[in-house]
Amino acid sequence: MNLPFAEPYKIKMVETIRKSSRVEREQWIKEACYNLFSLRSEQVFIDLLTDSGTGSMSDKQWSAMMEGDESYAGARSYYRLQEVICETIGYPYFLPTHQGRAAENVLFSSMVKAGDILPGNAHFDTTKGHIEFRKAQAIDCTIAEAFDTTYECPFKGNFDLNKLEEVLKKYPKEQIPCIVVTVTNNTAGGQPVSMENIKRVAALAQKYGVKILIDAARFAENAYFIKTREQGYADKGIREIVKEMFSYADFMTMSAKKDAIVNMGGFISFRHREDWEKCQMYTIIYEGFITYGGMSGRDMNALAQGLIEGTEFDYLASRIGQVAYLAQKLDEYGVPYQRPAGGHAIFVDANKVLPQVPKEEFVAQTLGIELYLEAGIRGVEIGTLLADRDPVSRENRYPALELLRLAIPRRVYTNNHMDYVAAALKNVYDRRQVINRGYVIVKELPIMRHFTVRLRPAQ
Ligand SMILES: *Cc1c(COP(=O)(O)O)cnc(C)c1O
Repeated sequence: MNLPFAEPYKIKMVETIRKSSRVEREQWIKEACYNLFSLRSEQVFIDLLTDSGTGSMSDKQWSAMMEGDESYAGARSYYRLQEVICETIGYPYFLPTHQGRAAENVLFSSMVKAGDILPGNAHFDTTKGHIEFRKAQAIDCTIAEAFDTTYECPFKGNFDLNKLEEVLKKYPKEQIPCIVVTVTNNTAGGQPVSMENIKRVAALAQKYGVKILIDAARFAENAYFIKTREQGYADKGIREIVKEMFSYADFMTMSAKKDAIVNMGGFISFRHREDWEKCQMYTIIYEGFITYGGMSGRDMNALAQGLIEGTEFDYLASRIGQVAYLAQKLDEYGVPYQRPAGGHAIFVDANKVLPQVPKEEFVAQTLGIELYLEAGIRGVEIGTLLADRDPVSRENRYPALELLRLAIPRRVYTNNHMDYVAAALKNVYDRRQVINRGYVIVKELPIMRHFTVRLRPAQ
């Protein structure tokens, strides 16, 4: 008999979580104005809001923290992190930041101006926020197949190269600071981008004289998919694949809260010295001196160790395997989700579960609230609330997909928790016909409203 796959770690410390009653949850979600971000974590049993900063650090990361050097300038921890970034990513320069969006802020401050165009494969919401805040425009060039949740293809996060070339042709290169390649494509469902596609994007970038930024939050998960799905990569190591991915780009921004398995942290890494130098001033005014940029020494140490652990094949196999395990349960129950399962999350297709809920009443948000009421599980809406309003017309933007994302934190939950999540979703799915109305907005902020929006039930 073949031995089954098992996690390449054992559990050293546990944290108690508490189940609640439906009556309690009805009260809590009402108090939270039907915004899942506004719940207290104690009001949640299984928290799949995000895989960002929610992972479990290892014994080695915790011990690395004890050795953090908290010197203001030139700390050992900075040089340790630089060494690991250089070995992993392959670029010689880097700037630490307190998280991914801070990396975007620093980099974009140095190069994005009003009227600029940044084509990409479904920019992440903070990336888009930082672009639009500067009165520049993010143009989505993801393949159309990504918007059909039933379509199975190995690299559903890919660029549509024709769409990309049209954009590059239409605008002068002075107006295009860079192409943003997001790996994995979070917005499309944690879907990977193939090496072939990255290579072709790079060829177009070279042809039109523009730079490439890799939004690298889940670069290691993307490399795992390349290794296991793309021809010619089966025998290559994860780190070798990672290096090749970055060899096609000019710089990368990293939310270390994802694939580097830390609770807080980020960085920008640069191939070219001049880009690094241009960003230093913004690091100093927004983040801190260039050798700590928003992070303490101990956090840089944990991040360096996390980059090593996060690029190990066995860890990635168990991590992505757990997402696939949940997907397989949902297949058994007939619950529709973005196929194939992504690297960090399951994206339930809310339009298919609740087609009768009007799109003006936030279909995926409605499904998220139902799942919370059912079992105390917290997911997050990736739909109309997140898509926000058009910056010019201020009308709601209705995206092609209404998804409820269930993001799986790294090294945190067991497959028993996945069974619980699947059963809860099945129960909601079985009573889907009686869920007819959604929610309406009571109050919202002008940008990134989903974090703080207040809602009430529609009637
Ligand atoms: C999380 C994320 C970011 C932003 O990072 P934060 O650490 O949350 O600020 C940017 N891009 C992608 C693809 C992400 O997943």
